[in-house]
This record gives sequence, C-alpha cells and structure tokens, in this order.
Amino acid sequence: MINSQIKKRGLLLVLSSPSGTGKTAIAHKILENDKNFFLSVSATTRKPRPGEVDGKDYFFVGYEKFQEMVKNGEFLEHAEFCGNCYGTPKKPIEIALAAGKDVLFDIEWQGARQLAEKARDDLVSISILPPSLEELKNRLLNRQQDSIEVIENRMKTASDEASHYNEYDYVIINEDLEESIEAVRSILISERLKKNRQLGLKDFVENKLKGIKK
Ligand code: 5GP
Repeated sequence: MINSQIKKRGLLLVLSSPSGTGKTAIAHKILENDKNFFLSVSATTRKPRPGEVDGKDYFFVGYEKFQEMVKNGEFLEHAEFCGNCYGTPKKPIEIALAAGKDVLFDIEWQGARQLAEKARDDLVSISILPPSLEELKNRLLNRQQDSIEVIENRMKTASDEASHYNEYDYVIINEDLEESIEAVRSILISERLKKNRQLGLKDFVENKLKGIKK
C-alpha cells in the first residue's frame, strides 16, 4: 500500500480500553499480519496471570525494582492502575524507532496522555470501548483469568477508562472483533499515508517525478 521507495517515519500506535474489551486480541491480529510492528512490553508490579510469560506478556517486577526504574528514568511513561504499577521501558522503543519500526502500545489512558505530551506528532491513539458494561462483565467472567474480586475492581475502573474517549484520535466500539480489526487496519493505512510520515516524499517528487508537465 505504501510505496516502498519512500523512507517513512515510524508511528506510535496506542490502543487503550477497559480490561476485557478485546484490545489484546486486536493487537495480536495486527501484529500477526504487520511485520513492521514492534510490540512494547511493559513492566508491571502485578502478579502474572495463568499462562502469562515473563518478558513476553510483561516484565514482572517487584515494587522496589519498579520504583528504581522510575528513579533512573527508564520509563517513557508509567502509571498506577487498580493498585499495580505499569510502565513502558524507554530503551526498546528507541531501538525499534531507530530501526524504522512502528511501535504498538497496549496502555491505559494515563500512559496515553503522557505519550501525547511527549510525542504528539508520532502518536496515533485509539480508544476501544465495549458495547455495554453487561457485555464487558460477561467477557471478563468468560475468560476465567481473574477472581470475582478482581473483576469487580476492573468493572469499577471500566467507566473511568471509557470516560477518557475524547483524548484519543479514534474511538472504536468493539461489537464485532473482525470489524474492529479491520477498522484499526484502515486507520493504520491512512495514518501511514500522511505526508509528514513519508519522509522521502520531497526527494521522490523532485528526483523521480522531475520533468512532469503541470
Ligand atoms: P492488565 O493488568 O489487565 O494486563 O492491564 C491493566 C491495564 O494496564 C490495561 O488497561 C493495560 O492497557 C494497562 N497497561 C499495561 N501496560 C501498561 C504500561 O506500560 N503503561 C500504562 N500506562 N498502562 C499499561
């Protein structure tokens, strides 16, 4: 879709949603089919859920270690959510961007806001919302990953996360997973075609399209 002759500037794609809205499934589908993406793996003080792998799903660290990382300026952004700390390690993002990759972030609204303050021009942010709170609760119960107590806590924060929809560039109500994935793909195609991301456009027009009559 995007002309391979033109050097482009990487983008930072942020997906935020209340837990259980389908954001992780959408992110995985995008990554599966789009090899130019680097997935940002966050550090968290939350305990691993069954099946979660250290270094793949998260870097699971203790509270002390997390605070040390904050103090050393190792995070691009960080926030507290449901009593746990979450943060995006800066170094891997810098390496990915330098290698011409786009970066995908699965982070909540406080982190999205910090990225907007630091890198507005590179940011493409999408808020993914559930069709209803009832539907959300059913999805959280069905995935059987969290205790009832944790689910109740997540439900309390769902409305809060959703209330920040206006801070995002795009909003998708995830009624149908396939349609939502298509919507994210369409957004990516458009955003990559923006002229400020096609760094080689000037050279391309001046050198390769020279001589075309007006
Ligand atoms: P969970 O515990 O369900 O994996 O994640 C809880 C929330 O934290 C989700 O909304 C997720 O997007 C967010 N989150 C995960 N990693 C980060 C991070 O590095 N920074 C911020 N701000 N939020 C994160």
